[in-house]
Amino acid sequence: MNAATNADTIAAIATAPGAAGVGVVRISGPAAPAIAQALLGRPPTPRHAHFAAFRGADGELIDRGLLLCFPAPHSYTGEHVLELQGHGSSVLLDTLLRRACELGARLARPGEFTERAFLNGKLDLAQAEAVADLIAARSQAAARAALQSMEGVFSQRVHALLQQLIDLRVHVEAAIDFPEEEIDFLADPAIAGKLQALRDEHATLLQEAERGVRLGEGLRVAIVGRPNAGKSSLLNALAGRDRAIVTSIAGTTRDVLRETVQVDGIALELADTAGLRDTDDEVEREGVRRAHSELATADVALLVTEQARRADDLALLAHLPAGVTRVVVVNKIDRDGPQPSHEVIDGLETLGLSARTGDGVDALRGVLKRLAGQGGGEGAFSARRRHVDALQRVGGHLGQAGHALATLHAGELAAEELRQAQHALGEITGGYTSDDLLGAIFGSFCIGK
Ligand code: GDP
Repeated sequence: MNAATNADTIAAIATAPGAAGVGVVRISGPAAPAIAQALLGRPPTPRHAHFAAFRGADGELIDRGLLLCFPAPHSYTGEHVLELQGHGSSVLLDTLLRRACELGARLARPGEFTERAFLNGKLDLAQAEAVADLIAARSQAAARAALQSMEGVFSQRVHALLQQLIDLRVHVEAAIDFPEEEIDFLADPAIAGKLQALRDEHATLLQEAERGVRLGEGLRVAIVGRPNAGKSSLLNALAGRDRAIVTSIAGTTRDVLRETVQVDGIALELADTAGLRDTDDEVEREGVRRAHSELATADVALLVTEQARRADDLALLAHLPAGVTRVVVVNKIDRDGPQPSHEVIDGLETLGLSARTGDGVDALRGVLKRLAGQGGGEGAFSARRRHVDALQRVGGHLGQAGHALATLHAGELAAEELRQAQHALGEITGGYTSDDLLGAIFGSFCIGK
C-alpha cells in the first residue's frame, strides 16, 4: 500500500489540550501541503521549522508558532504530514484545528494516525499496539518494554520464528509432493530436528511474551487471609502510606480496596479483600463475594497469616484457580519471634515478615518484582494478551504437527497444522487480520495518535 490509500486528510490535536506550554495540531493526508501553504503563505520547506502566523479565513491572527511539513512517504503515517505547534491552550488549539478543517481536513478518529502508519507499512500491528502501550504505560519498566516493542524487538522475534516455520513447511510440503518417498522424507531426522528447534524457540518466545503482558498490565496481587491477619497493614506497608484503615476489630475491611503501587518501576495492583469468612452481615457478605471474584482475575494471591495459623489458613488457597501464583506471608514476626525469612514450605514460597515494623517487607517486594516479570534485562519487550493467545495457538498446532509426523506419519496432516501455525503467528504482526480486529485495536487509542 502507499500514501494514496487514503483520499482524505485528517487532523487532530496531538497533545493533551490544556497542557501548559506547546500544543500540537497534527494533519495527515494529501491536503496537508496545501493546508501548510495556505497557513504559511508560501510552499513550506520539507522538514524545516517555519515560524508562522496562523491566521483564520478572515486574516485574523489565531496564534503564532512553528509549522513543520513531512512529505510522504518519510513521515509517521507514510502520508504528507503537517504539524502545527502553537501555544498549549485548548481554545487556541481548537480554533487551529477548525481552521485546518476549513482548509480541507476532517477530524481524525482515535488511533487513525497510527492506523494509517500501519496500513502504509510504516509499522506492523504489534509495533502499532506498542505505541498505545507506551502512551498508557504506568511504570518505567512498562514504558521501556513498550519502547522495545515499538522499535520492533518483539516483531523481529516473531519474524524469525515465522522464517523457521516457513523453512519447515517447505520440507514437509516437498515430501508430500513425492508420495512414493513421503514416508522416508518425513522420517528424516532433519525434519524432526527442525520441528524441535522451532518448538523450543516458540516456548521461549511465549514465556517472554507472557512476561511482556505482565510488564505492561502490572501484576495483579490479591491480598487474602482471615480477618485481623494484617492484610490492610501489609497493603499499607507495600504502598508506603495509610491507604487502608487499620483497626483491630475483625471484619473492618468490608470492600475491595485497590491500590496501584510502583515498586522499582513495576506497577503492582493490590486488592485488599474482605476476610474470606462466612458471615451473616449483609455488607460484609458482599465484601466476601467481591473478594472471591477478585481472586478469579488475580495473577498472584498473597495469603497473609500468622505463625500459629499458617497450616490452617493454607485451606484458604485451596479454592483458587490453578493459574494464580500463591505466596504465603507469615505476618507479625515482631510479636511472634522469628527473624524475617524466605523459604519454600509445603511447596509454597513463604515469607516471614512484619507489616508493622516493615522487617522483611523488602524481600516480599523482591518476590513481587520477580513475578511481575522484572529481571528480563534490557531486551524485555511488551506484549498483549492477544499476542499470547496467538502464540498459544501456534504451540497447539506445532504439537499436533509433531504428533502427525512422528506417530501418524501423516504428511498432509502435519502440513495443515503448520499452515495454521503460520496463520496464527501472522496475526501478531498483522499479516492476517480482520477489519474487526483493526477496529478494536485502533479504536482504543486516544485521538491524535
Ligand atoms: P486485616 O483485617 O487482615 O486487614 O488486618 P489489619 O491490617 O487490620 O490488622 C489487624 C491487627 O493486627 C491490627 O491491630 C494491626 O495493628 C495488627 N497488625 C498488623 N500487622 C502486624 C504486625 O506485623 N505485627 C503486629 N504485632 N501486629 C500487626
